[in-house]
Amino acid sequence: MKKYDQIVVGGGVSGLTLSLLLAKNGKKVLLLEKGPHLGGSLIRFYKKNIPFDTGFHFTAGFSRGGILSEMLKVLGIQDQIKPIFLSAPGSGVFVFEKDNLVYDMPSGTENFRLKLHQYFPQEIQAIDAYFLKVKKVYQATISLDLRKIGLHAQAVDEDYLSLQEVLDALTTNVHLKALLSAFCVCYGANPKETSFANHARVAGGLYESVARIENGGEAFIRAFNERFSQSNIEVCCNTTISECAEIKNDAVGRFILSNGESVTATECTFTIHPQEVLKILPRQYFRKAFLERVAAFETSYGFFSVFGIVENACPNEFGPSITSLLPSTNLNTLLDPNQKEDTALAIIRSVEAGKDGKKYCVVNAFQPEFYSNLKQWADSSIGKRPAAYNEYKARQAQRITERFSNFFPQYRNDFKIIDAASVLTFRDYLFSPEGNAYGIKQKMGQFNLFGKLPLVNIYVAGQSAVLPGIVGAMLSSFIVARNLIGKEEFNHFIAGELTN
Ligand SMILES: Cc1cc2nc3c(=O)[nH]c(=O)nc-3n(C[C@H](O)[C@H](O)[C@H](O)COP(=O)(O)OP(=O)(O)OC[C@H]3O[C@@H](n4cnc5c(N)ncnc54)[C@H](O)[C@@H]3O)c2cc1C
Repeated sequence: MKKYDQIVVGGGVSGLTLSLLLAKNGKKVLLLEKGPHLGGSLIRFYKKNIPFDTGFHFTAGFSRGGILSEMLKVLGIQDQIKPIFLSAPGSGVFVFEKDNLVYDMPSGTENFRLKLHQYFPQEIQAIDAYFLKVKKVYQATISLDLRKIGLHAQAVDEDYLSLQEVLDALTTNVHLKALLSAFCVCYGANPKETSFANHARVAGGLYESVARIENGGEAFIRAFNERFSQSNIEVCCNTTISECAEIKNDAVGRFILSNGESVTATECTFTIHPQEVLKILPRQYFRKAFLERVAAFETSYGFFSVFGIVENACPNEFGPSITSLLPSTNLNTLLDPNQKEDTALAIIRSVEAGKDGKKYCVVNAFQPEFYSNLKQWADSSIGKRPAAYNEYKARQAQRITERFSNFFPQYRNDFKIIDAASVLTFRDYLFSPEGNAYGIKQKMGQFNLFGKLPLVNIYVAGQSAVLPGIVGAMLSSFIVARNLIGKEEFNHFIAGELTN
């Protein structure tokens, strides 16, 4: 029977980060991935030689001393990850389609705030009060500083106030409120459901800087793989844990893998969806209230995505940029699964190198989509979907094309859809329940599944643990690693890596 110090379950950015951190601290690691490849949502796919991103389009955290830059430095992969900042005019645009209003928002929190002053001169007080609150939450969130992270994040008052409550208290201007809450599309909950603090932790980083990565998530996967080959990490794809055995004193003694092997490890961390974790662990070790809490977690929405190119466009003038089309000002309505009208649509333009060496002007357009609305096709699988589902997909893609062409009439005749994906596609390729984009919904007052479980050598990290997105998923692994490695040793390690 093989012996490891640590098992990590799930080969997305969270599992990759945790495995490397543990190996860098002398642990022998077994990384289990259910799918055929490492990377999870980071994976890029190629159609007609053109690269398209599945679950990673842009990120915060790359400003000077930013949390992502620091995490990459500690992992020793910062040189392979090259940010492409979206800072030129026109690279961060919000559009209210029905009102014909366009807001071109600059990069940098101060620039963003001052541009809002120009757009809304009557609302200067409200704008400043909003940014002060964002700053307060951001500064109080010690987990956003690697030198200070601890397992127990301290709550602030804004953890118990919804984003909607805060905005309603500040202003009645519907366009301003919509602009300030539009980043909720980056964490999967609407303004009434999420706390202001959760919003501020995600939006605060995005105001500071937004960047795409050269070669997208593929750059991350390559960098991790390179480091793995020099580390004490064994990767096992197409494999998961099927049973926990020999449980004594609330600790699992043996892990039975889906390939039939048995292994031992001091600790095991799951970086997958919390409800999937509890399907693997024996239920009798958890209190009823605990099981009910996890069962009650709502899954965040996913995205219907269109992957296309604009032929004959000039690469030098094509991007990178993010254009957010909003059919109305009420994000709560737009993100309501029962509404039947158009919803928010994010259009990402970028220039990508194809496998054939050509440069392509790529468009990734995606809009929130709810699993509950596709339930009638939930039993189908890739390549075996019924005709009605394919018709639904064609209608969605057609409507996205119309909205894209209305805002970019210059590309109308040259926009070509190469592929499209629904939450069912994401579900089946990424092994994510309901094809969600951000794991569980981060709702106000919710206690996420995170850190040590009642089975004392089992831990949980991943995008559902602290904050969603690449930054949140990686951060959760840093916090758990601190516990697995030992607080003092970890602090020493971080200090050493950051000063090198
Ligand atoms: C369409 C879309 C667009 C997005 N856009 C962005 C963006 O622009 N920026 C951003 O920051 N975030 C974005 N996100 C969210 C981001 O991708 C995730 O927050 C992040 O990648 C999650 O990382 P993770 O490691 O926690 O999970 P995942 O990437 O989901 O990885 C989990 C891994 O575990 C594996 N797995 C599942 N079950 C098991 C099991 N039982 N045993 C073993 N392995 C298992 C899966 O196959 C997968 O490889 C987007 C997500 C989607 C879907």
